Amino acid sequence: YRHGEASEVVVNTPNGAVVFGEHQPLVVVAGPCSVENEEMIVETAKRVKTAGAKFLRGGAYKPRTSPYAFQGHGESALDLLARAREVSGLGIITEVMDAADLDKIAEIADVIQVGARNMQNFSLLKKVGAQPKPVLLKRGMAATIEDWLMAAEYILASGNPNVILCERGIRTFDRQYTRNTLDLSVVPVLRKLTHLPIMIDPSHGVGWSEFVPSMAMAAIAAGTDSLMIEVHPNPAKALSDGPQSLTPDRFDNLMEELAVIGKAV
Ligand code: PEP
Ligand code: MN
Repeated sequence: YRHGEASEVVVNTPNGAVVFGEHQPLVVVAGPCSVENEEMIVETAKRVKTAGAKFLRGGAYKPRTSPYAFQGHGESALDLLARAREVSGLGIITEVMDAADLDKIAEIADVIQVGARNMQNFSLLKKVGAQPKPVLLKRGMAATIEDWLMAAEYILASGNPNVILCERGIRTFDRQYTRNTLDLSVVPVLRKLTHLPIMIDPSHGVGWSEFVPSMAMAAIAAGTDSLMIEVHPNPAKALSDGPQSLTPDRFDNLMEELAVIGKAV
């Protein structure tokens, strides 16, 4: 079990320091699954900033099930994220898939995401642990809580204390109505087991935008420290994860609802 106080992860964004932690205001991370072009990422950044998000998310390197699906624009997308950061002042969260890309990602990202599929890529975990940017560690889709905490331990043991744990849904037997089963029981369980801050990603958790607001509110009720929400200016045209992405207008509505029930946003 956890010993001592909850730890806090402080991230310096252009708009100021943002703190993830049990005794801090809810931190909302929002943005598209993939960075598609400059206009969409800059527009999304402005909209989610206005709504109250503190971070922009967006993938440059995408782990897709099919090798024929859009793989992300890679390095050029990092430049677009840097542009969106400059325009909005939001912190940037983006995924590293290959240790060879880590240095250039760390140059523009404020938080480095390790995705579900790489949660037990131990050599990658050691490398993100040996660099100074905070790390968002998503739960593997079939990882036990013990597997997940041990994966976090690799990062901590390599010298980086700034790890945030993100639940994004586990494999479900019912793919008909949900993409994954969002395991909200991790919130109280992790609180008991670890001092690390907690994030819930209902977008990947359920896979359908209409179910995202309910689960975001449920995550707050359970006591999450932060949320990750996929937002796209035109979900029907998204190159990845359109069905689970909120429009900026629907994200505005969600943020208003969260402000009413939640820890102050
Ligand atoms: C993502 O955040 O877009 C993503 C690919 O997430 P996960 O690793 O949880 O599937
Ligand atoms: Mn996605």
